[in-house]
Amino acid sequence: MTTVLRNANLLAPEGQIKKGALVYEGETIVYAGADDEKTWKAAAGADPALFDLEGRTVIPGFVDSHIHPAAVALSSWHIKIPMFQKAEDLLSYIKDYAREHPKEEVPFLYFEYYPTDMFDASGPAKELLDTAVSDRPCLCQDFGEHMHWVNSKMLEMMEVDENTPDPVPGLEMFVRDEKGRPTGWVKEMAWLSFADKMYEKIGWKPPQDLDTQSLAPVLDFFKEHGITAVFDAVVESRAQMEVLKKLDDQGQLKLYYDAAVRFWSYEDLPQKIAQLRDYQAQYGSKHIKLNTMKLFLDGTNEAGNGALLNPHVNDPFGTNYGEIKMEEEELKQCFLLCNQEGLDVHLHIVGDRAFRTGWKAVKAAKEEAAAQGALWSIQIIFAHCELVAPEDMAKPAELGISINWSCHWSGGYFGEEAKNFIPEDRWNQMYQFNPMLESGAQVAFSSDVVTYYELERANPLFGMQIANTRIDPQFPLSPERFPESRRPAEEACISMENLLKGYTAAAAKQLHWENKMGSLEAGKLANLCILSEDPLKADLQKVKDIQFETVIFEGEVIHGKL
Ligand SMILES: [Zn+2]
Repeated sequence: MTTVLRNANLLAPEGQIKKGALVYEGETIVYAGADDEKTWKAAAGADPALFDLEGRTVIPGFVDSHIHPAAVALSSWHIKIPMFQKAEDLLSYIKDYAREHPKEEVPFLYFEYYPTDMFDASGPAKELLDTAVSDRPCLCQDFGEHMHWVNSKMLEMMEVDENTPDPVPGLEMFVRDEKGRPTGWVKEMAWLSFADKMYEKIGWKPPQDLDTQSLAPVLDFFKEHGITAVFDAVVESRAQMEVLKKLDDQGQLKLYYDAAVRFWSYEDLPQKIAQLRDYQAQYGSKHIKLNTMKLFLDGTNEAGNGALLNPHVNDPFGTNYGEIKMEEEELKQCFLLCNQEGLDVHLHIVGDRAFRTGWKAVKAAKEEAAAQGALWSIQIIFAHCELVAPEDMAKPAELGISINWSCHWSGGYFGEEAKNFIPEDRWNQMYQFNPMLESGAQVAFSSDVVTYYELERANPLFGMQIANTRIDPQFPLSPERFPESRRPAEEACISMENLLKGYTAAAAKQLHWENKMGSLEAGKLANLCILSEDPLKADLQKVKDIQFETVIFEGEVIHGKL
């Protein structure tokens, strides 16, 4: 079956949107070019299905190159709370909720979120949370999603006390008082290592594993928003892979799915690679692949555990530079091993010191590989890169490092919380990707949504609008300090052309699927979005409102109609 979409506006591979026609046969585009009847008829053959798009815009299916679909699906049991600015309002909300939902009904209260800057540098205390809930374990997660505030009952049930070692001292840990007793502030997922003891005591466990039902809303969201390929930045469990495989076998996945397996150190890397190989063998298919190892090199800038080149502004001793998971030498060894295995490495990097350590390790690893006569065949991807020293901006292009940025963070989503650790002038320079684009680096875009709470922000057009304007319509910065709530610096606004490219062609390249997707060209998959409006011509504040009228996956309409 051949289909012709004529009288359309097509996104050309060079980045402009031009009048044209597109023909696809089965799952493959056979023609994309001028709307010249003679030419497209030659490509379409006899009797194609012909559709006049009346000037609508056609772009390739979006590729979300860093997202956590399983984590989103698994978080649907979390309790969403409004964004309170005062701790007393938050506590009274939690207290009321606990009263209305007795422990027989909700044995473990998991709230999201409290604003990361709600408490001072010593963090929130368990005693304060106890005033709202003391009859059962209770946890409140910070908005940055890396910090947790737990009550005394939860620590007691997890059997965590002054004698309990931290999973990763300094990074994944329980903050403690002078006697070593946990204060109730937990960094990263340290509590998770002890959660089973608690679940056993309360006789309840959160839904740990995905099933087709829990994943359905996430997959539906992708279909409705033209996302036809994703990179899952961390596989959470084998069950997740099983669900995806099952859907794929039934022809229900309607998505290209690429994923990473997480490792923590050079020591555990071989074992994690073995796990990835096992997943590859069991679940790999035309639509599913795993080709990447994921490492968190530092923490978050809002929580003060991003690795910085300068000490924290709030540190009177000038010795706190944040946290880094590994230094250059170990990182280099990890890159070399992954290169031998032909596996990409995707790094979580937020601070300028982590960025520098990262590129130095890439440079050293490439030099060592060359000296040994080994080919360099993998991609190293730096995700986030929130704070980068100006002199390091050209390094990605120079060293062939791929960059990944989650567009919808470009405005006020994380507020001004990083200013607790980063000087104002440097804060004003955060989230800069134009210097990397201008120097020729590959910059791909993504949403990095992790929870159900923020799923709607995974709409690529929503993210693109924010990266283009630096204004977050949902979380605006104070308009008194920032005219129009626009985040500095103005020159950091990314052009819509670059955003479209980064969410399609560059993202496809990051996933090594550039021969299949990412642009409207003969030979590529007919993964298409038909939009109600041309995003290059739309009012900049209304890009997010453009409708996905039709979404086509491998030539099949999966949302809307033709
Ligand atoms: Zn992520």
